[in-house]
Amino acid sequence: MNNPIEISVVAPLYNTKETISTLVSQLESVFAQLGVSFEIILVDDASPQNDWLVVEDLCKRFSSVKGIKLSRNFGQHIAITAGLQYSSGKWVVVMDADLQDTPTEIISLYKTAQSGYDLVYAQRKVRQDSWYKRQTSKWFYKIFGFLTNTKQDASIGNFGIYNQKVIQSILSMKDATRYFPTMAQWVGFKSTSIEVQHAARQTGKSSYNLYKLFHLAFDNIIAFSDKPLRLTIKLGFLISLISFIIGTYYFISYSLGQIKVTGFTSLILSIWFLSGIIISLLGIIGIYIAKIFDKVKDRPIFIVESKINI
Ligand code: UDP
Ligand code: MG
Repeated sequence: MNNPIEISVVAPLYNTKETISTLVSQLESVFAQLGVSFEIILVDDASPQNDWLVVEDLCKRFSSVKGIKLSRNFGQHIAITAGLQYSSGKWVVVMDADLQDTPTEIISLYKTAQSGYDLVYAQRKVRQDSWYKRQTSKWFYKIFGFLTNTKQDASIGNFGIYNQKVIQSILSMKDATRYFPTMAQWVGFKSTSIEVQHAARQTGKSSYNLYKLFHLAFDNIIAFSDKPLRLTIKLGFLISLISFIIGTYYFISYSLGQIKVTGFTSLILSIWFLSGIIISLLGIIGIYIAKIFDKVKDRPIFIVESKINI
């Protein structure tokens, strides 16, 4: 099959109305400089700002721009998946649409990939995000890495260039819960990273609040590992061990006639304590069952409402 497109850019849109036009014009000049064929796939994740109007206009003005509108807000990583599904380039660049990922960096990403890599991650050594954002992100990666037994690097996000075979492998993963960086890591292939400039958000603010981030972390930990279940078993053993030691102590004390009044407090405390643990552990198991239920229903990962230039 001859492949006329060298690079596809996939960018999800959510409240990025003010930056899309600039993004497209910057990308146009980057690719003119590189002298390669390209396409820009903009995925409107049902942005409340109605970014779609801008996309429609851009699609009219530039033949390289393609638009996909999702039927509702599915979240950044599912929007990326939707875009990947329609990408046909030999290479695919995944980036944010709010200009925090700098288009000119594509040149060095592409050149590095040419030197023999399947994936080149953009590493944001200096993140131009607020202190709060950097902290929540740092802890997200720490906990996520621990609970999924993977190495996470807070300086690496979605931005990078990926060979189409890497993209196809990622698309072959049918997981309903999607998190692009870990999926890219999971499929393997030859990868490297290069340092890039990261820009501060020009307009608006990050669409991730603590609740959304917590939700993302929790969903992905459950989706990517069974470590919480393993930890649960360890916790159970630990509690049994402690109970055994304490039990032995009380047994000896009782035998020696040292216990005069049988304690109501200790009894009630242990009932509440253990019940709490049992309920939360049941909750963890319940979540896994819910995930299985989701998978069994086998719903599509996203729904496209309309497409332009595709
Ligand atoms: N995004 C999306 N759907 C959402 C939230 C965000 O497609 O529900 C996109 C958004 O358009 C942007 C990228 O994800 O291109 C990153 O979003 P944001 O800038 O809000 O997050 P941050 O840069 O703070 O991680
Ligand atoms: Mg951003």
